[in-house]
This record gives sequence, C-alpha cells and structure tokens, in this order.
Amino acid sequence: MDSFDSIIIGAGQAAPSLAVALAGRGDRVALIEGDRLGGTCVNTGCTPTKTLRKSARVAHLARRAAEFGVKTGPVEVDFAAAMARMRERSDRAREGLANWLARTDGVNVIDGWGRFDGREADGRFRVSVGDRVLRARQVYLNTGTRPFIPDVPGLETIAPLDNAGLLALTERPDHLIVVGGSYIGLELGQIFRRLGSSVTILHRADRLAEREDADVSAIIADIMRSEGIDLRLNASIASVGKTMRGALVTLADGTEIVGSHILFATGRVPNTEELNLVSVGLTADARGYIATDAQLETDVPGIWALGDVNRRGAFTHTAYHDHEIVLAERDGLEDLHQWKGADQRPTTYAMFTDPPLGRVGLTRTEALALVGQGRRILISDLPMDRVSRAREEGETSGLIRLIVDAETEAFLGATVFGFGGDEVIATLTNFMATGASYRIMQQALPVHPTVAEFLPTILAGLKPLEKADG
Ligand SMILES: Cc1cc2nc3c(=O)[nH]c(=O)nc-3n(C[C@H](O)[C@H](O)[C@H](O)COP(=O)(O)OP(=O)(O)OC[C@H]3O[C@@H](n4cnc5c(N)ncnc54)[C@H](O)[C@@H]3O)c2cc1C
Repeated sequence: MDSFDSIIIGAGQAAPSLAVALAGRGDRVALIEGDRLGGTCVNTGCTPTKTLRKSARVAHLARRAAEFGVKTGPVEVDFAAAMARMRERSDRAREGLANWLARTDGVNVIDGWGRFDGREADGRFRVSVGDRVLRARQVYLNTGTRPFIPDVPGLETIAPLDNAGLLALTERPDHLIVVGGSYIGLELGQIFRRLGSSVTILHRADRLAEREDADVSAIIADIMRSEGIDLRLNASIASVGKTMRGALVTLADGTEIVGSHILFATGRVPNTEELNLVSVGLTADARGYIATDAQLETDVPGIWALGDVNRRGAFTHTAYHDHEIVLAERDGLEDLHQWKGADQRPTTYAMFTDPPLGRVGLTRTEALALVGQGRRILISDLPMDRVSRAREEGETSGLIRLIVDAETEAFLGATVFGFGGDEVIATLTNFMATGASYRIMQQALPVHPTVAEFLPTILAGLKPLEKADG
C-alpha cells in the first residue's frame, strides 16, 4: 500500500527542503510533481531571468564602455548564446535538485498531478496521482501559481506569451510589447531591450509598479525611457489582433501599436482548482488561495499550505521561509525563531531591474497612512547620486529611504533603489529581525566605499513624517 507519513503536492521552493528535512526526522515522504522539479523559480522564474539579466547587463555596460575609457567594436548580442547560457543554468539547478532528492533516503519523488481523494476511516488523507492512491496523516501543499492572461477581445487570434513562452523563444523578438508595467514586466522588458529588441510597455495605471512610492515609480520610468523603452501609462487594451508583422494592440483611446510579440505580465493565479480540496473539507478563497494560520496550517488540521499558494508572499524566499516555519513548529523551536510565524515577518523583496530595487516593510505612502492614524514615524531619504560608491560606479539613479518608529526606534521599512540595492536591503532586513533601535546601526562600523556605509549618515537625517508631507 502507498502509505507515507507526509505527502507534499508540488515541488516548488518550499517542497524539496521540506521533504529532505522531514525525511531526516524519520518520515517516509512522497513528493509529487506534475511538471518540473523546482517549480516556477528554477524553470521559468528567478533562475533563468537573473541569468539572462546578466547577459543583458553585460551588453548594456559594453554599450557604455566608452564612458569608462574602454574601447569596443560595435556591440552585438548573440541571442541564441545568451538563451543557451540561461537554459544551461536552469537545467543545472534542476538536476542538482533532482540528484539531492534522489540520494535522500525516505524521499520518494512521484511524477504526476496530485489531487485529494477524501480520507480513510482512520483519518489519513488520500491523494491520488494517476492510478495510484497515496495515504498520509500530513499533507503539505506547495503548488504555486501560474500566469494569468486577461480575456482581451481578439486574444484567440494571436500567440500571447507568458514568462515561460518568452524564455522559450529561439529568436529575438523584433518588437516586444509587454502588457503590465509591474515587477515581472519591467524586469523582462528591460532585459529584452538590452538584448536588442524594441520594447513597448503598456501599463494600466498612471505610474509603473504603483505599489511603490510615487517618486520610486518616477525614477523607474526615467530609467526605462533612458534606455529607449516606449512607456504607455494609463493604457487600457481594447483588443488585440494579428497582422503581417505579428500582433496589433488597440488601446481604449484608439491608439494602435504593432509588435512582433506580446508578453502578458499581468499577474498570477494559484494552482488549487485541480486539488479537489472539497473532498477533504478544505475551501480556497474567492481567488483560489488557501488561508492558513501563522504556522501555515490550513483550516483542516494536518494540511499545510506553503509558498505562493497561501498568499503570504509571492517569492522564493517566502516559500523557503515557510518551510522553516513549519519545521520550527514541528521541532518545538518557536522560541528560536525570531519571526515565529508568517504573521510577524515583514515583506521583503527585490525588483531585479537594473539598477535593482530592494524593499523591506513600509513604503513612505504606507507610513503616511499610519501617521494619519496618530503614529509617530521618522523618515530620511538620500538620492543615490549623493552616494560616492554609486558615483564611482557611474550608476547614480535611485534613492535610499529609511523609516523608523519614533517611539520604539525600530525600523519600520526601507527602500534601497540603486546600485547594489538587492544586496544592501538585506542589511536592513537582518537588522529588523533583531528589533533593535536604529541608534545601534548608527554606531556600527561600515566599510568604505560601499552603498551601505551611508546608512548611519542617512539615519542622522531622520525627521518626523508629517501628514502634510502626503
Ligand atoms: C518571471 C518571474 C521571475 C521571478 N523572479 C523572482 C525572483 O527573482 N525572486 C523571487 O524571490 N521570486 C521570483 N519569482 C517568484 C517565484 O518564482 C515564486 O514565488 C517561487 O517559485 C515560489 O513558488 P512556490 O514554491 O509557491 O511554487 P512554484 O515555484 O510555482 O512551484 C509549484 C510547483 O507545483 C507543481 N504543481 C502544481 N499543482 C500540482 C499538482 N496538483 N500536483 C503536482 N504538482 C503540482 C507545479 O508544476 C510547480 O512545479 C519570479 C516569478 C516569475 C514568474
């Protein structure tokens, strides 16, 4: 009989580490994956995009070479070679994962799509994979999300691309139209522009990445425009259609844009509708996400939801952290875990445009809302062009913003947008985990010349955030 202690459905970014850790604690584990091990991140997300981003950045710096006193010939991108480098990196990452799981005693990787099939009389969950029925007392869901493409009139006449389709191209698009000017659309739009495509980004809102502060959105727009990307804000699509050259997008105001390819970077939806949740008494919310408590257990004891599917983060690091939360609880280590559950941890992420945007906790806009409710908050900003290291690098776009609680003196949020922002933000995130006063960071000794060395200086400029600042 296919009997296990734990079944994990979906091998995303929480599952492999969880499987190995559970097996290490003596569980017999079934890890079910319907597509490719490593999920979105390894196959069509973080790993390939950051690899391709490097090729794009090299091309960009090569074009700027004369600024640094370096002569090059004309810069030409070998698209096939850049894409091959990207695929090689993803393939190696996936193979590494597969080998790790294969050599771990107690982990059984099962190919196929898993779905619940009710419960046994003794309470164990049944999960079917094709003709097999597996049974276990504990089930962990790590099924992730997939791209959402809106139902635009004419969609059936074109071949819309999502992130996976874009990364599978073998020829460089002449003109890539990116629908969606948020994190994924901006990253991919900039990468393909630097690889040599013409790029138009269409964004519904009046500013890019509108979850960020307005001045951050404005800087992103400047960077994109400075690289020759055609930005259309307040762009609502009326229809799409096929033309000789590829695809035609008609906007609500009648504007027509012709491109060779259209990428939809318009959000993601959770992979839950095929799980037959109802057979075990579990329901997803209206958008398909699965609610959990802070320890990531669902409303049905014995079933946990980790990663994007629990809507407590949409990142690899949050999915990975989810597995640590589950293990900490199982091991009774709650006191050792600073952010004991998913309720307490701050939001932290990077947008890997170049320069990157590192973020943790509150934006200025969110802090202002709290000021409106009577909270006393301090804030200090520094434009990146005042940071000596950024000048030396010739990469001066962006800003640093630090936000602290006036009473507790703890950090509430930070934005590090600019050179090294994806790395420097960890200094703030890690410091926030201690809950310590910002004054301690002011006394620390940073290395010169780095972006991080400016953090104490910026803190010296903290001023009350006033309602009127909104
Ligand atoms: C273009 C792009 C770039 C990104 N870049 C970054 C980045 O730089 N940094 C970052 O932190 N995040 C990034 N992300 C987000 C990141 O990829 C996800 O947050 C991360 O993969 C965590 O997802 P997950 O573990 O929830 O599931 P996923 O990685 O989505 O994996 C879920 C897995 O479950 C499988 N599955 C689903 N249903 C079933 C079923 N019924 N049975 C069996 N298997 C099933 C799927 O096939 C899939 O393999 C990016 C995403 C995209 C799209």
